[in-house]
Amino acid sequence: MRVTEGGVELEVPGEQTEGIEESVFYNPRQELNRDLTIATLRAFREREERAESYLDAMTASGVRGVRAAADGWDVTCCDLEEDAVDLARENLERNDLAAEARVEHRNVNALAHDEAFDVIDLDPYGSPMPFADAAFARCRDLVCVTATDTAPLCGAHFNSGIRSYSAVPQNTDYHAEMGVRTLLSALARSAARFDVGVEPIFSHATSHYVRTYLELDRKASAADAALEHLGYISHCEDCLYREAEHELIADPLETCPECGGERVLVAGPLWLGPYRDPEFVAAVREEIPDDFGTAKTGRELCDALEAELDRPTHYDQHKLCKNWGLPANAMDEFLADLRAAGHAASTAHYGGTTFKTDADVGEIREATEANLV
Ligand SMILES: [Zn+2]
Repeated sequence: MRVTEGGVELEVPGEQTEGIEESVFYNPRQELNRDLTIATLRAFREREERAESYLDAMTASGVRGVRAAADGWDVTCCDLEEDAVDLARENLERNDLAAEARVEHRNVNALAHDEAFDVIDLDPYGSPMPFADAAFARCRDLVCVTATDTAPLCGAHFNSGIRSYSAVPQNTDYHAEMGVRTLLSALARSAARFDVGVEPIFSHATSHYVRTYLELDRKASAADAALEHLGYISHCEDCLYREAEHELIADPLETCPECGGERVLVAGPLWLGPYRDPEFVAAVREEIPDDFGTAKTGRELCDALEAELDRPTHYDQHKLCKNWGLPANAMDEFLADLRAAGHAASTAHYGGTTFKTDADVGEIREATEANLV
């Protein structure tokens, strides 16, 4: 079937259906991810002018590489599958970009071992961790990562999460954020092995994947600084109280200071620091043109990310209210009550009922309860 995306035309195997996800080489549900990649690369080029080379590490149909090449990047598309390599070549030729990009039929870890790139983009099926070390060993400026294994990341597939990410994720009401922070923790530790510090300048959790963009600082001191963002979250399953602790040695809560309950889950090491730079997010938003298929969603996502408070976990208003046996009210009203009580509060990008605040669960109830009727 013929697909047009971001101004490039692609031929991908499979039938055009309403049902989506018909081709292993092209996933239409990832169009937002790819649109934001192009906008992020544009904003990043403004930030780091020397960045020129871009490795599309699991290229499949070549769509991301074709779009980056059309945008002026010096692109390498890599894939282990011969069919994918052929398809990527055809799609580059179809867009007259064969001279701007080369295609490598190789194991990407071997390629990254032989050659350095300014930007490396990992978009594997499942966990990206088998490719992370090779990316951090040689990448100069920016590592972009997609993880689609959200069940292991958020603790729903507990042992698989531990195996893939060398951390203990826990299944909580902020599961998507648990996924973001589990992934960032594993990536920061992988980078630190090569004396590389990471700064996540743009990250989002969207339906079935987590996406993050890590700006690199190739210094041991930067790696040390990044590791200071790691720590643990203690979470009470009864009252939803949670507490974060920035340490590499866990000192978890034994009982909940809010309700006295003993059903306290401990997750970590997680990335507890910021997962986006608000100024960079605003710059990405400016680079989303009207003709991107997901322009509206992408801009809304950037707005939400820019406004989010930096807190280790978000709350879900409906889950809190259900736990309290009270009806939920409008989110605006709810947040206004929190602010009126002197707390910082913002919406979160994880969903319409999610928010962030510096108030703990008892303070949230105290501030909002009067209007939950
Ligand atoms: Zn509790």
